[in-house]
Amino acid sequence: MIGRLKIYLKYVRYQGLLAVLCLCFLSSVSPVLAGHGDETVLILHSYHPSLGWTAGIMDAMQERLAAKRPDLSLHVEYLDVKRNPGPAFYTSYVEGILPQKLAGRHFDLILTSDNDAFNFVRRHRNDLFRDVPVVFCGVNGFVAEMITPLGGMTGVAEAPSFQETVEVALSIHPETRELIFVGETLTETGRQNDMTLHQLTDSLPAELSIQFWNDRPLEELEPVLGRLTQGQVVLLASVISNRSGKVLSFEESARHVREHSSVPIYGFWDFFLGEGIVGGHLTSSHAQGELAANLGLRILAGESADDIPVTISDSNRYLFDYNQLQKFGVSLNRLPVESTVINQPASFYHLDKWQFWAGVTIILLLCFSLFLLIWIMVLRRKAESILAERVRLADLDAEIGRVLTRGGDLSETLQACVRILLRQTGTALGRIWTISDVDPTLLELQASAGLSTRTDGKHRFKRIGEMKVGIIGSQRQPVLTNQVAGDPLFTDQEWVRREGIIGFAGYPLVVKDRLVGVIAFFSKQPLSEAVQASIASVADMIAIGIERHRAEEALQGLDQIKSEFIATAAHELRTPLTTILGYAELLSNDMLLPGFPAEQREEYLGYIIAKSEALEKIIDELLDLGRIETGRTIVLDRQPCEMIAMVQQVILHYSQENQRHQFVDSCPVECLDIDIDQAKIQRVFDNLISNAVKYSPRGGTIRIEGRLVYPWLEISIADEGIGMTPEQAAMVFDKFYRVNTSDTAVRGLGLGLTISKGIIEAHGGKIWIESEIGQGTRVVFLLPLPERSGE
Ligand code: ATP
Ligand code: MG
Repeated sequence: MIGRLKIYLKYVRYQGLLAVLCLCFLSSVSPVLAGHGDETVLILHSYHPSLGWTAGIMDAMQERLAAKRPDLSLHVEYLDVKRNPGPAFYTSYVEGILPQKLAGRHFDLILTSDNDAFNFVRRHRNDLFRDVPVVFCGVNGFVAEMITPLGGMTGVAEAPSFQETVEVALSIHPETRELIFVGETLTETGRQNDMTLHQLTDSLPAELSIQFWNDRPLEELEPVLGRLTQGQVVLLASVISNRSGKVLSFEESARHVREHSSVPIYGFWDFFLGEGIVGGHLTSSHAQGELAANLGLRILAGESADDIPVTISDSNRYLFDYNQLQKFGVSLNRLPVESTVINQPASFYHLDKWQFWAGVTIILLLCFSLFLLIWIMVLRRKAESILAERVRLADLDAEIGRVLTRGGDLSETLQACVRILLRQTGTALGRIWTISDVDPTLLELQASAGLSTRTDGKHRFKRIGEMKVGIIGSQRQPVLTNQVAGDPLFTDQEWVRREGIIGFAGYPLVVKDRLVGVIAFFSKQPLSEAVQASIASVADMIAIGIERHRAEEALQGLDQIKSEFIATAAHELRTPLTTILGYAELLSNDMLLPGFPAEQREEYLGYIIAKSEALEKIIDELLDLGRIETGRTIVLDRQPCEMIAMVQQVILHYSQENQRHQFVDSCPVECLDIDIDQAKIQRVFDNLISNAVKYSPRGGTIRIEGRLVYPWLEISIADEGIGMTPEQAAMVFDKFYRVNTSDTAVRGLGLGLTISKGIIEAHGGKIWIESEIGQGTRVVFLLPLPERSGE
């Protein structure tokens, strides 16, 4: 404990708790704390290091000295008289070992705390500490005579605010009838305090009872404290010891008194605060230590101690514990205005302005950081969703692209596209209409997926320009609505209600300004722009797919017809040629070896002529077709012709040849001289009547009608034959087109109507066909009549 171990602390700059604890610890095992300088300061404490009061003084001294003179070596000694009261310890240690220990040492400055250390230095002023300047603190009952004869001494006299504390206690508890001072008279300081307190109580009102409970061990104090009642106030003037001599710390002392009594307790030193006292005008150990260290530094800097007057501590302040005030029902406005209250719940209004603005700044900074974080998060989410949307659209493009390039049936291809889009958009029904082959003013349903997969229902055809889908087609503008119910452009409102349809998205399918179809989706949830974006991203692809499919189909149909024609034409040419060749051979053999009777030869020649005429007819048709194809008009050899007579002649010819059919005619009786190419118009009759016969395999009536519908002569040929669908009828004027191209079908080149149309149009007329499947066909043509005289 009293070893000569010398530890040098290089630099004690920081005074945090750790440093204090370290130094306290070190000082308890070694008397010396040193810097690296030559000057040494002796710090001499009256009490022990773990005593709050002494620790506060030591802490403040070290803090100041280290801040200004880190080079100083500190030698610290504790007389420890509070824990060791009585003369034996004094004799053996304070006046025995300690002087021996310090003998022969040189100190440049001595700092002391409390009366015992101060008195020790005074006693040894002329042996151990000759000429060494001394600064004291914590000295109670100081009078100038204590230092004047010795010289080189100055310091801080401790002046506990006994009077102020008693006064404030009485003003806070006006019902007080008795004051009890708990103190000690075993130490010099204790005795000084006791004396001062006795002087003070003499001046208090006579009706106020006063008791001094000095030097009572804890075991004795506890029961009497427990008996205190309202109107009594305890004033704690020192620490307490127990019967075995153990001195409690200030904190323990205050806690014990608090625990065993129910009356208010006041104190005189700040280290009691927070441990159970209500408060008081309290002396601060830290202030004592700091003031003493400052005086010491002035002396080390060259000032003479004798020139520095003794400071009477002015560091006492009104301090109170909020918890104790609450306990005794004391409101804060009963306290002196300059009071400081500890343990008060932090209130916004009690924060000083720096705390307030620091708090506000921190909150603003936090808000700003939070806003920044949220903003960054929102931006990131946005970027992520844009990316996800792009990936989704790219996937969709790829999937639709794969389906469209796979080829195959258009309807199936579009069906697959709708199914993919339906899955991607989460909609309930998806449909694609394309421009109808039959009527380009109609949209025809090609694909349907979801709620209905039928393409042949009542929604099969939509007229362009009518209803929602038709309007999308005509205006070529996409439509997105979430109010399908009640919209008159959606005709089937009953279905809309039943299925709970809310949203509709439609998009025109356009290639190079040409409408090829419309794609549309119905949804049971409100639709977002994302659905429109999905459809938009693939609409062009689908439109081009439809166009390409159509072109391929047409190309394949224009090739198929050609090859069929070649086969048919070859057959048609070969049949008459075989006949011609066969009979010609027979006749030529007959010239070498005559044997056929004359009638037979005539018959053979008749076959040859008839078949040659048939060949001529075929070749004429091909030539006419050639002309029509290359845009040249058919050359007409116009002669005035009595039309009605000619019609009757043709009818007569056909009625004689066809027994199964009944020919009925109704023509105007008047003679009609029209300038026509008779042979060619006859060919038209030939074609039309031969068709009526060919395509009425079961016979029936063939009605030929002539009407004057100025300025036209209208002629119609109607049969009761197999008839055609509207789509088929729309194509019969196309070259080589034949409804039935199977081997079992009636023979033909598919040119009759094409050529007839060419001839009629060359005459300035018109031709059309009306047909119903299974019911029959009526072909009508108009020829312009000569202008009537006088008109
Ligand atoms: P050809 O060149 O020998 O006349 P074709 O009769 O087949 O051959 P078109 O007269 O041009 O050719 O007729 C075209 C097609 O129209 C026919 O193949 C037939 O399918 C259909 N068609 C024409 N007239 C009728 C009709 N009266 N009734 C039913 N189908 C008809
Ligand atoms: Mg024909």
